Amino acid sequence: MLTNRCPSCHEGYLFVKSNPYASGFMNMEKKCARCGADFQREPGFYFGAAYVSYALTVALWVAVVVALYTFDFIGLISYGFFENPVLTIVLGITLLVVLLPVLYRLSRSLWIHMFVQRNDHLRSETSLDDDSAE
Ligand SMILES: [Zn+2]
Repeated sequence: MLTNRCPSCHEGYLFVKSNPYASGFMNMEKKCARCGADFQREPGFYFGAAYVSYALTVALWVAVVVALYTFDFIGLISYGFFENPVLTIVLGITLLVVLLPVLYRLSRSLWIHMFVQRNDHLRSETSLDDDSAE
């Protein structure tokens, strides 16, 4: 799931390019090259991934704020979280823009993994051979 692999066989890749910062990082494969699972399940299927992306963004934002506040409170850093709200917001937005490709792909991967079950029979030819030998 975190490596953007096929939800069915966990071997094929969801995205055409493996580097999230390459141009065309949003392009997805239509089907799994390994097992043939359909990645374009229906028109607008990935609309719901926006909610996953929103949840991930909020979780990341809260985690960073709690970490900064905690480190500031115990004296590890003297950031002055509440004294520099503009700097905090600018840094937060910059962080989100930098992480946008990663969050985009992760939310699509999480979304399709919620709807497609793993199918170990499609995993590889060797596992198919093992099943037939039994
Ligand atoms: Zn697959």
